Amino acid sequence: MMRQFELVERVKSYDPSADEDALNRAYVFTVKAHGSQKRASGDPYFSHPVEVAGILAGMRLDSSSIITGLLHDTVEDTLATLEEIERLFGPEIARLVDGVTKLSRVELTSGQTKQAENFRKLVLAMSEDIRVLLVKLADRLHNMRTLRFIKDADKRRRIARETMEIYAQLAERIGMHEMKDQLEDLAFAELHPDAREGIRARLAFLREKGGDVVPRVIAELRNTLKEGGVDARVTGREKSPYSVWRKMQRKDVGFEQLSDIMAFRVVVDTVEQCYQALGVMHSRYPVVPGRFKDYISTPKPNQYRSLHTGVIGPERQRIEMQIRTREMHEVAELGVAAHWSYKEGAPKTEGPQYRWLRELLDILEHASGPEEFLEHTRLEMFQDQVFCFTPKGDLFALPRGATPVDFAYAVHSEIGDTCVGAKINGRLVPLRTPLQNGDQVEIVTSKAQTPSPTWERFVVTGKARARIRRFIRTQQRQQYLDLGKAIVQKAFRQEGQDFAEKALEPVLKDFEAETLEDL
Ligand code: MN
Repeated sequence: MMRQFELVERVKSYDPSADEDALNRAYVFTVKAHGSQKRASGDPYFSHPVEVAGILAGMRLDSSSIITGLLHDTVEDTLATLEEIERLFGPEIARLVDGVTKLSRVELTSGQTKQAENFRKLVLAMSEDIRVLLVKLADRLHNMRTLRFIKDADKRRRIARETMEIYAQLAERIGMHEMKDQLEDLAFAELHPDAREGIRARLAFLREKGGDVVPRVIAELRNTLKEGGVDARVTGREKSPYSVWRKMQRKDVGFEQLSDIMAFRVVVDTVEQCYQALGVMHSRYPVVPGRFKDYISTPKPNQYRSLHTGVIGPERQRIEMQIRTREMHEVAELGVAAHWSYKEGAPKTEGPQYRWLRELLDILEHASGPEEFLEHTRLEMFQDQVFCFTPKGDLFALPRGATPVDFAYAVHSEIGDTCVGAKINGRLVPLRTPLQNGDQVEIVTSKAQTPSPTWERFVVTGKARARIRRFIRTQQRQQYLDLGKAIVQKAFRQEGQDFAEKALEPVLKDFEAETLEDL
């Protein structure tokens, strides 16, 4: 476990302006608050928040994030209150800790991963400050590192699946590849221990048989580039067992057929040198068709930029290669965290967290898949959405400002038509109450109820509005029908005729009406 002065020194090393006093106070506060609580591992509980803070410091985050990491479990798991944290550490820290606490609570209400995409969105929508999400990811990373200490195997698997489907994906979506790789590998070890061991053993065997292939290939690639006039840093590694496994699954091939298990990275200074290095590689080694991708001219939605190619490399082996600049590399490894650079000298008063948030929203907006576009209109994209649970734990996404009536119609038209009341988190509320993220909504229905015209004034979803309007129109039509019939009957009576609907049929055409009802 990182000791107090080590943590503070680490933060100071990349951010000399960090609030040393607050860091020290937060460290002492969390140690005291968690007191004699123990982790499943038998370690004192406070080792967990301290490790989380250490992970965040490794990401070079600001001192507010580190302090939030230290305090992140105190409100949920100890006697400490949010008011106390606000008094001692100020409103910004209190807001961040509150965000992480709320996320942890939602996590407990839903054990289902079939709604993974909605759940990912819920997490994002609740992480109003990107730092809340980063603390949550660091929290999850440390929990995964200590997962083996949990005795209940079902619980371990549930946490591992959730990590794979929710948190690793979120890390990737905000461009944090290193975090994603670690989370995936830890979850893989829990979910498919045999497959992982098999792949690791096979990789070890190949390594032994081929000798130190990776260093030899690195040396030759570096030489080749030098001869071609490109000064580059070349690194290489075996792919992670999980990515090898995924590839085997996807292509339905056995391990023996899987040839490109090594990936190399060429880091240069400028964009021009990237293309120059690519040219050198392609002229020197046979190119594997279909592997070249230019993510520099067309970056990925999460801002990832690099050139990708595959060649038959020095040892007559297929190798994958990524070519990028130093800056692209930082972004690829740390994602949005890389933008948080003190070296850039971003003025603190500008509130870097807002810049982050904007960037993140930007990324997310462009990251949405085609199915998203079909499902929601642009205005209803998920940063404008709220996510609410049914009492059974099903998750529904609604536009911001949605009310229990919208929720009822989203669950089922019938439930909408007959709703008379609603409970949010167990408390009876007016039907016009705007829903909040993570609310559990229970709709009270009555067969005697029909949609009320007043609902139209506060519902926000198209579905609810359409149903209510349709009901009102049918109701009005019936009223007009009754009225029209009464008028015609009266006219017949005044003329001394007996009224019969049949008698009107010949004149339908004259009035351009198709049916008696229309007339
Ligand atoms: Mn925690």
